[in-house]
Amino acid sequence: MKNIPSIQRSITQAKDLAALRQAYQGWSNTPDPLTRLTRRLSTSLSLETQLGILAEEIGTTIPFDALSYRHQVANRDFVYATGMGGPHRCEYRLNLEGVCYGTLTLNRRQKFSDEELQGIEIFISAAICPLRNACQFMTIEQAALTDALTSIPNKRALDEHLQRASLLSDRHREEYSLILCDLDHFKTVNDQHGHVVGDHLLRLTAKAIENAIRNSDSVYRFGGEEFAILLPHTGEQEAQDVADRVRNAIAALRVDCGGTDLSVTTSCGVARHLAEEGANQWIARADEALYRAKGQGRNCTKVFASIG
Ligand code: GH3
Ligand code: MG
Ligand code: MG
Repeated sequence: MKNIPSIQRSITQAKDLAALRQAYQGWSNTPDPLTRLTRRLSTSLSLETQLGILAEEIGTTIPFDALSYRHQVANRDFVYATGMGGPHRCEYRLNLEGVCYGTLTLNRRQKFSDEELQGIEIFISAAICPLRNACQFMTIEQAALTDALTSIPNKRALDEHLQRASLLSDRHREEYSLILCDLDHFKTVNDQHGHVVGDHLLRLTAKAIENAIRNSDSVYRFGGEEFAILLPHTGEQEAQDVADRVRNAIAALRVDCGGTDLSVTTSCGVARHLAEEGANQWIARADEALYRAKGQGRNCTKVFASIG
């Protein structure tokens, strides 16, 4: 038999559950704008998607002509903009617990009233935690795609970009080429000068490659002393020229090792993407060309010649 406190507990629990059911009905049937906003924001960790949702939800209550957002996320400028300006604007720095998570600006042809400004601030207050989470997610995502030593994209980023390039190459009949660069006798550099000097040279190499390629090309740390360069709109011959330019840029690097200047040479393998070819086959052909460059004395570029 139940005692009295336990019966009372059951009654209270039944009431709580009834209130919960009622709240759920209100929440799911005709949600108020704030409930709808927070519910929608919780469905995505993408900063861009969240800003789109915020813009839509503010727009249902407070008309505006343009909304923009700026923030430095993972050392990059992130900009989101929707709509076309207007002379009147309100701007908010999104601060949470002493950290800024970007600046949000709304523009309009007519002045915003005090009530409207209050309304915007309520929307922003409800959105700031999800926006913070999206910023943090982007930072973590970026770190997972970046090489810690050289700060350039890593092998994981290369794999993603090669898959995309393979698809685009097939769909739009665009030429893409891949260069694999491997520093020559790098083990000797470490053995003779130590890993600190080796690491320094790897960082300089990454910078030298970045400076030697076009903005549309991208460089990745492929492995220990190996780098990959992805070149859109580039055929074999042009890619070979880029590889030679990169080799010259690396060969020109000098590291002062107490009286002697250390320098290093590079071997490169080039492969153009072939129709219907997967990323792994493409890399394997560039690697084969690199292997030939090593076999023919290093400090040179070899192309995996494609037919047609
Ligand atoms: P090869 O011309 O045939 O490429 O000779 P290699 O000595 O460059 O090639 P090997 O594969 O024998 O050795 C690669 C060396 O790269 C060995 C390893 O210590 C070094 N290395 C790999 N990653 C790093 C790194 O992060 N920092 C440093 N300092 N050295 C690294
Ligand atoms: Mg190697
Ligand atoms: Mg090497």
